[in-house]
Amino acid sequence: MKKYTTTDFENDFPDDDACLDWILRKRWPNGVYCNTCGKVTNHYKLADRPCFSCEFCRNQVYPLQGTIFQDTHLPIRKWFKAFTQMAVTRCGVSARQLGRDIGVTPNTALRIWKQIRSILTDDGSILTGKVEVDETYVGGKREGKRGRGAEGKTIVMGMVERGGRVRAKVVADVKAKTLLPEIEANVLKDATVYTDDLLSYGGVAKMGTSTRPSTTARKSTWWAKTSTQTAWKVSGAN
Ligand SMILES: [Zn+2]
Repeated sequence: MKKYTTTDFENDFPDDDACLDWILRKRWPNGVYCNTCGKVTNHYKLADRPCFSCEFCRNQVYPLQGTIFQDTHLPIRKWFKAFTQMAVTRCGVSARQLGRDIGVTPNTALRIWKQIRSILTDDGSILTGKVEVDETYVGGKREGKRGRGAEGKTIVMGMVERGGRVRAKVVADVKAKTLLPEIEANVLKDATVYTDDLLSYGGVAKMGTSTRPSTTARKSTWWAKTSTQTAWKVSGAN
């Protein structure tokens, strides 16, 4: 897989709005559902806040809410750049260097360096509690789900513990005999595993872990998953 370069980053994320827009699309890939209107509607970015507003009723959506970026005073693009730097170097960049690269003080750099490292680092430990498992297709012209246009893309299986630890594996296919051993190797038996309705995961229940779909789990861990995808996209999966 091709390395993700600084130029790629500059193209993908030229400013804060581009980052915010990306998060919005990741969290609501099928469009933002407006509770007031009772349907998916267009939402427009407000100029002065990290907020999108429904085209009809002005109902407001804050995509950063419930994420690690929620209370940050740092421009969101600096976070994106930091995630990219750390993923590219597999966390091999020092906090001091990171601070220079993204333009923050050494203290701030150390704080976010620790936070990102804890999210990206695979220490080999077993995931417990509530774990979300799914797969994403990366590479090629556009990222996307399985189905049409998925050919030739790399399949990355993501396992995300609620609270933040992440495992990502490149898998050959999405068959049960491929996916289940990965879950077995990485997730504690009595964990609650959240999956989508992909048939291959049906066997998880038989393994002793319980499965049920959950949108709330999806919400709380989306950012960790996002960082996984970014990590693998930029580090060149192997
Ligand atoms: Zn509305």
